[in-house]
Amino acid sequence: MLALEIDHLTTAFGALRAVDDVSLAVAAGSITGLIGPNGAGKSTLFNSVVGAAVPLTGSIRLHGERIDALTPERVFRLGLAHTFQIPRPFAEMTVLENLMLATPGQAGERFWSALLRPAGVRRQERAIMRRAFEILDFTTLAAVAGSAAGRLSGGQQKLLELARILMGEPRLILLDEPAAGVNPALTQVLIEKIRELNARGMTFFVIEHDMDFVMGHCDPIIAMAGGKVIFEGSSREAVNDPGLRDAYLGELPHV
Ligand code: ADP
Ligand code: MG
Repeated sequence: MLALEIDHLTTAFGALRAVDDVSLAVAAGSITGLIGPNGAGKSTLFNSVVGAAVPLTGSIRLHGERIDALTPERVFRLGLAHTFQIPRPFAEMTVLENLMLATPGQAGERFWSALLRPAGVRRQERAIMRRAFEILDFTTLAAVAGSAAGRLSGGQQKLLELARILMGEPRLILLDEPAAGVNPALTQVLIEKIRELNARGMTFFVIEHDMDFVMGHCDPIIAMAGGKVIFEGSSREAVNDPGLRDAYLGELPHV
């Protein structure tokens, strides 16, 4: 079973093919790692998958269904969520409000249903609030539920990103450098939460430079360089792959 299938995908910025004829698959139930030097095209690949960048050619399937012509909103509703490399919370709003806003398809958004069925809307809002608190507990953010999101530490903002997308009950989660700038203790929390969610059936596709994270928790590992996939295999194969070492100019850490 494949959660994600990318076939001959090319995304360009002018003459630059940031993603250049990439084909790859992410198995359902896996924590698949995506590594590669800066500028390799990793974030552009994710942006193309979630509809935030428009590919020139190629196809993308989510659990077998074509998604490459859909808006980010539609893709999110189909169960594919992603976090940005730089967190983008509503800084002035509280952590709780950020979560409440992340729920797709609230009845309250629709003017007429809000007018005609206020009791139903209130009930739904209470349900969303309950769910938000459960997720804040799960992501260890309950204590800062009332704080402005912009006041959180970098690490807490990464956890907020995860919390925000969990409101949509995604089946596949794309994380763009979740551990970057996060202190070791919070990184550990993040890894624990990813593993717990994975054990409950969520698939993860994770861009990360933290090699302990990648080597210890991702299988398989896919590597990109210059817009191309240059490696696919286990962590053991990754450390022994000469092409991968070249791509990192010999800076791949020992494991
Ligand atoms: P990575 O995430 O692997 O570091 P990116 O996907 O961010 O790589 O970038 C791949 C290439 O595309 C880089 O050369 C980068 O400068 C370029 N690029 C990324 N986003 C844009 C953009 N919005 N406009 C123009 N060039 C971009
Ligand atoms: Mg990037």
